[in-house]
Amino acid sequence: MRILFLGAPGAGKGTQCKRLSAKLNLPHLSSGDLLREAVKAGSPAGVEAKGYMDKGVLVPDPVLIKMFGEKLSSQECKNGFILDGFPRNLAQAQSLDELLESLKSNLTTVINLEVDDSLLTERICGRWTCSNKACAAVYHVKFAPPKAEGKCDVCGSELGQRADDKEELVKARLNTYREQTQPLIEYYTQKKLLKTVKGEGDQEEIFQDILKSTKVTA
Ligand code: AMP
Repeated sequence: MRILFLGAPGAGKGTQCKRLSAKLNLPHLSSGDLLREAVKAGSPAGVEAKGYMDKGVLVPDPVLIKMFGEKLSSQECKNGFILDGFPRNLAQAQSLDELLESLKSNLTTVINLEVDDSLLTERICGRWTCSNKACAAVYHVKFAPPKAEGKCDVCGSELGQRADDKEELVKARLNTYREQTQPLIEYYTQKKLLKTVKGEGDQEEIFQDILKSTKVTA
């Protein structure tokens, strides 16, 4: 299966993609995570990306297209994949189509995780993530607080807030989503690949709806 997730920042793509990746045993390719790793490692892609990420705007297309071109052509993705955060505009979507066409592995489903605007900012600004990369559990100060403040329930590591999850940057990120990424909903509707899942309420129920949309039995 080759699945793509669309949805605004804070829609819950990361959380649901991790669960689906474990359930289907498919790699979860998150553009945000790959870029943050590149920034941390100080690679050329990371050095180029950092300034854009700090402003909450899109990193130039060639950086992402190269990064995902390498990933999607690799052995790791030969049985399928779950894309999260790429593509994020029409030019990236067209490049992805060309790449997958050449690999004879077109997308099978696009899930649009839909969440009301009023909830997104609250979700993002209260989000804390485990600093241990192998764990990366996600918490929320109000909706899913850890048992001990600032510590991960699963592995005990420190929790941290993403630099771009601060309120002043969230507005820019949501604007970028509306202007550049939302048109992809129409793009994939035209291709008859889009399934919309409401991303509000109980995480388990949302996951079951996602499984139904991908036609996987629970
Ligand atoms: P995310 O973790 O998905 O919210 O992404 C964090 C930041 O990484 C975004 O605000 C962008 O600056 C950058 N980014 C992630 N995915 C892409 C993409 N497909 N194209 C361009 N920039 C991206």
